Amino acid sequence: MSFELLAEEDGARRGRLTTAHGMIDTPAFMPVGTQATVKALSPDEVRALGAQVLLSNTYHLALRPGGERIARLGGLHKFMGWDGPILTDSGGFQVFSLDHLVKVSDEGATFRSHLDGSEQHFTPESVMAIQRQLGSDIAMAFDQPVSWPATAATTKAAMERTHQWAARCLESQPAAGQLRFGIVQGGFDEQLRRESAEVLMGLPFDGFGVGGLSLGEPKGVTYRLLSLQTAILPRERPRYLMGVGTPEDLVEAIARGIDMFDCVLPTRIARNGSILTRGGRINLRNRRFIEDAGPLDEGCDCYTCARFSRAYLRHLFMAGEILGHRLASIHNLRMLVRLVGETRQAIGSGRLAQIMATLRDQWALAPLP
Ligand SMILES: [Zn+2]
Repeated sequence: MSFELLAEEDGARRGRLTTAHGMIDTPAFMPVGTQATVKALSPDEVRALGAQVLLSNTYHLALRPGGERIARLGGLHKFMGWDGPILTDSGGFQVFSLDHLVKVSDEGATFRSHLDGSEQHFTPESVMAIQRQLGSDIAMAFDQPVSWPATAATTKAAMERTHQWAARCLESQPAAGQLRFGIVQGGFDEQLRRESAEVLMGLPFDGFGVGGLSLGEPKGVTYRLLSLQTAILPRERPRYLMGVGTPEDLVEAIARGIDMFDCVLPTRIARNGSILTRGGRINLRNRRFIEDAGPLDEGCDCYTCARFSRAYLRHLFMAGEILGHRLASIHNLRMLVRLVGETRQAIGSGRLAQIMATLRDQWALAPLP
C-alpha cells in the first residue's frame, strides 16, 4: 500500500491512497453500502457520481448473509458487483449502539442480533476474520466507542480495551492486499483523546480512524478533539473520520487534516425527500415546489439535475414512487462528493482559505465554533 501526500495547506492535505482495488484521491467521501448496496443505486450509478470507494458494514453482513457465504460467493466485490475499493467497518459502533443488549469483557462483546434476537459474539479476532472473508480493501480494528455523555471511568476503560483489541487485530491474518486501520477513541476527554492517538500510532496500522465523535456532543467539542488528534497522528498515514458527513462537518474536518469520510446522511435524508443544496437543505414535500420547474440545485451537474425538475421530484415523493428515492439519492451523494472534490482541488493552490470561505458562504454553513 502506498499513501502519497501530494499537497498540504493550512493543515489540510491532498493525497492518494492505493489499495488492492484501485486508487482513492483524498480527501474522499465514501458512500455507505450497509447491506452490500448503496441503497436504491446500482454500482454504475455510484461510480458515475464520482465516488471511488464504498463503505460496507461487517456487523450487518456477518448477521446476513454471513461472511463465510460471501467468501464462498467470491468475496464482497464480486458479490455486490463493485470492483473499486471497499472499506469495511468493524461493527464496533453497531454492536455498542445496541446499548442495553450488549455485554462486554476484555475478551469481546456478546449481543443480541437485531434480526432474530439470537446471541452473537464478536472478538477482535472474529471481526478481522469476517473482514478477511469479505475481502475488503481496508479493514477496521474492533473498538468500543462510548456515547455522549460518558463518565471518565467508562471512557477510560473503553479506550484501554480498544487499545488491547487493536493489538490483537494486528495479530490476525489480513486478506491479500488488505489494509488495516486502527481506531482512536478517548470519548470527550482531551487527555484521553491525546493518549489514544499516541498509543495507536505506536502500532503498525496502515491508517487511523477517528471514532466516537459526532455522537451528540456540541460541535465545538467535536472540532476541538478532532484538531487535537490530527495534530498527533502521523503525517504519512491516512486519517478517516468515521460516520461524519454534513457539508459543514466535511469542510471543517478537511481543514483539520482528515482524509476520508463516510456518512449515511445523504442517502438517508434523500429517502425522506430532503435535498442538499448550496444554500441549505430543502424538503420536496413542501408545497412551494409544486410548480417549481428548476433543478434541485442550480449549479449541480448530476443526472437528476440535468433531466428533472423540483416539481417532478416532488410529485414522485407525493405519489410514493421509488424513482424519487433513487433520483434524490443520486443528487445528494453527488453534492457531497463534489463538495469534497472541490475542496480537495483547492488544497495546495495557495488559495485554500479563500476557497473554503467561499464554500462556507455558498453552502450557508455555520460560522466556525
Ligand atoms: Zn443534482
